[in-house]
Amino acid sequence: MYNSPVLFDASPALTTQLVPNAYFKKAAIITDQAQHSAVSALIEKLYDTPHDVHVFKDAEQARAFIVAQKMGTHFYVVANWDEATTIFTTAVEEGVSEAEIQVQLRDDVKKYIYCMKCFTSSEILKEAVNVQCACGAHLEVGPFYSKVRQGYISYPFIPEA
Ligand SMILES: [Zn+2]
Repeated sequence: MYNSPVLFDASPALTTQLVPNAYFKKAAIITDQAQHSAVSALIEKLYDTPHDVHVFKDAEQARAFIVAQKMGTHFYVVANWDEATTIFTTAVEEGVSEAEIQVQLRDDVKKYIYCMKCFTSSEILKEAVNVQCACGAHLEVGPFYSKVRQGYISYPFIPEA
């Protein structure tokens, strides 16, 4: 089964600085705030590459902007985690690949685990190794991120008394 890319804490699309990609003929920038400094810094570095800027309001307007882009467009996203996730997911649904999109967060990444006892996913601290799920299970955070479950597969263990 093919799993579409999703945004997670180790996504290749995440970057601390947007870098102009010379292989693309056009830039499509989606930001949650017009003229945010990361956006103006990028636009300066794009030189004469044509670019469009879309200020994110909701998924459907973002979708219309993404769909309107031509082949050979590279996408740059500056937003907080929740908005970036929505934009990324929408772009992937419209056929944008991970190689065609860069995401710079304005806040921290969120990390999720998937509990193998109660089969739900929940947010955890980035650096957590062991956590306790809302169901009570003590979980060891595994290395495998499930795109289907949208979390790191985490296994229950019995803590030492
Ligand atoms: Zn659980």
